[in-house]
Amino acid sequence: MKYIFGNWKMYLGYSESVDLAKDLALQNFDTQKVSLAVFPAAIASKTVADELQNSNFAVGAQDVMWLPSGAYTGAVSAQMFKDIGCRYALVGHSERRHIFEEHSDTVRKKLEASREAGLIPVLCVGETKEDTEQDKRQYRLKKQLMSAFEGLRLNSGSMLIAYEPVWAIGTGDACLPQDAEDIIGWIKQEIVHYSLGNVPVLYGGSVTAQNVLSYTSISDIDGVLVGGVSTKKDEFTSLIRSVNNLYV
Ligand code: PEP
Repeated sequence: MKYIFGNWKMYLGYSESVDLAKDLALQNFDTQKVSLAVFPAAIASKTVADELQNSNFAVGAQDVMWLPSGAYTGAVSAQMFKDIGCRYALVGHSERRHIFEEHSDTVRKKLEASREAGLIPVLCVGETKEDTEQDKRQYRLKKQLMSAFEGLRLNSGSMLIAYEPVWAIGTGDACLPQDAEDIIGWIKQEIVHYSLGNVPVLYGGSVTAQNVLSYTSISDIDGVLVGGVSTKKDEFTSLIRSVNNLYV
């Protein structure tokens, strides 16, 4: 079984998100072969979750506030997303880390809050182009994994990791499947230290209907996190269908 998650980022407004959710709700995939979820903008998450309630798709939050409620203008808590029917939460997406300057301690708080609220966090990690040029890829990933997992308080419940090299996100410059395999294999060895149990690791960064099988055909790569393409009904459904038709 492979995970296929679609991050709609801030690409789709309310009506577009609801329309896409309605279209996806009509699709039929084999949930023994693909585990599907979409991550709409916060404003649309409740309606999208309602539309997808009896479908093959779960819904997730793109970002969460770590405290459950209070004087935090503009924030939406993990608990609030859980209450409206979300199952997952992206944590530490590179756009949050780089554009919103989210530090590793914030990522850690969001990871813990998601688990406490009963959401399944998808921790995003990835190196920048500069890291790669300076031969610091593993150093960067090690730091991100350590700050997320070292001494984690709530060490139960499931969780996923998405390996998303920053230079591959939204650029069309996808990571070579062989490199993604090597790094994901390495991440799986690294996290053994934290006794987290089985943590599926996905690849993300310029995944398309054309290249998806080059990742999902690798056994260590447990699925893909798709950005831009997941906002386009035909491309996203054909991407899912090619994985759905291939795996048991
Ligand atoms: C993402 O937003 O996580 C992502 C991988 O984006 P894209 O597929 O557009 O590169």
